[in-house]
Amino acid sequence: MGSNDPQVLIAGGGPVGLLCAWLLGRQGVRVRVFDNNDGLQDDPRAATTHPATLDLLSEDGLADDMARVGLVAPIFQFWDRPSGELVAQFDHAILARDTAHPFVVQCEQFKTAKLVLERLGKIPNVEVLFGHEVVDVTQRDGAVSVDVRGPDGLRTHTGAWLIGAEGGRSVVRKQSGIAFDGFTWPERFIVLTTPYDFEANRGYCPRSYFADPEAWCNCFKVSADGPPGLWRTVFPTDPAHTEEQLMSDAGVQARLQAFFPAPAPYEVVHRNLYVTHQRVAATFRKGRVLLAGDAAHVNNPIGGMGLNGGIQDAVSLSDKLARVLLNKESDRLLDLYDLQRRTVAVEFVQEQSIANKKRLEASDPDTRRKNLDDLRQIAADPARARQFLLRTAMIASQRRAATIELAEATP
Ligand SMILES: Cc1cc2nc3c(=O)[nH]c(=O)nc-3n(C[C@H](O)[C@H](O)[C@H](O)COP(=O)(O)OP(=O)(O)OC[C@H]3O[C@@H](n4cnc5c(N)ncnc54)[C@H](O)[C@@H]3O)c2cc1C
Repeated sequence: MGSNDPQVLIAGGGPVGLLCAWLLGRQGVRVRVFDNNDGLQDDPRAATTHPATLDLLSEDGLADDMARVGLVAPIFQFWDRPSGELVAQFDHAILARDTAHPFVVQCEQFKTAKLVLERLGKIPNVEVLFGHEVVDVTQRDGAVSVDVRGPDGLRTHTGAWLIGAEGGRSVVRKQSGIAFDGFTWPERFIVLTTPYDFEANRGYCPRSYFADPEAWCNCFKVSADGPPGLWRTVFPTDPAHTEEQLMSDAGVQARLQAFFPAPAPYEVVHRNLYVTHQRVAATFRKGRVLLAGDAAHVNNPIGGMGLNGGIQDAVSLSDKLARVLLNKESDRLLDLYDLQRRTVAVEFVQEQSIANKKRLEASDPDTRRKNLDDLRQIAADPARARQFLLRTAMIASQRRAATIELAEATP
């Protein structure tokens, strides 16, 4: 490796890869990021950014900027769709002593990525190469190389460390032989985005979850290009239906009307269909290869935990990697990264996101009644409500990660 070579290569310029680049770059680490797209993607995926994550993004006013371009949402609600009952409402204000951000910020992930990319433009030691696809990985003699297909053909780039942050289909993870165990839900999730104002017309708050034995729904608001904003509705789909059926105008209108009957057809500005998995990589570190974000773990979007977990990975990994590179601390810190972040991915994010889905989709009448009674009772008891919110706001998982010591990592 030459003295001007990057110290850290990053596959993937999504929000997690860019955040790693920024957090490392602002400490003086030389970083090169590769992303196969021509620029930032704007498909409607993550928006919900939880208190624990906002607490980590205070540097350089990033969390404040996210709130400025997004929406501040202190409250979320659970509804029983068949009866139309508001079952429970939770206010993050109860976490005022636990976080500097007792609210969620609904900031679309491309906006978060854009805010980070703007900051990267001021850091000369970070290069972001769009239109560059990582196709191969090789580790040897204290270095790691990637073969990258770009506008000039195939080129090899070498660094001291490689972060795989290129999403669930990570080439870095696959090329490194790291298993991605778990399962895939049979139903795909459809996201239908509409300007129809569910708050003004129906009294739903900007983060509303609907339990229904037929088909649950998440309904939440994003600021989009500015007021009045847009509403995203997320539904499960029937595995027997084709993409054409699900995405057709008739299919989209029928789904929205069945769930939220309205006098006129809905204006639908985006429709997206996602295959959804629950998987965690067998390790987040293999030699000089590190995984973060969806490359390391994927989960269903109910509760909005995937990118939050990825951002928390980025903060933990960048801190430890900078200490290894700049302070010459032991690279066992990176084993600690693996242990801390993989533990909470399994114990919290997988468990909570699966429980969130099961709560909304339960069809057995007794189970449904119990689920809804539990929610009512938790919401009515401030001590239980706080414990519940500590988990949903991902504060409990951050606290758990902080209790995992280096001694527990493999020597
Ligand atoms: C409908 C839906 C709603 C969601 N809502 C939320 C939410 O509210 N809150 C939340 O926390 N999470 C949410 N998520 C999850 C969230 O979208 C993901 O966790 C997040 O995108 C992960 O970010 P990432 O940077 O790890 O990966 P990605 O966003 O997938 O970015 C990876 C990047 O790497 C690039 N890439 C891929 N392969 C290569 C390659 N070989 N070489 C170079 N570049 C490559 C990709 O083009 C992409 O730009 C939601 C997901 C869905 C589907």
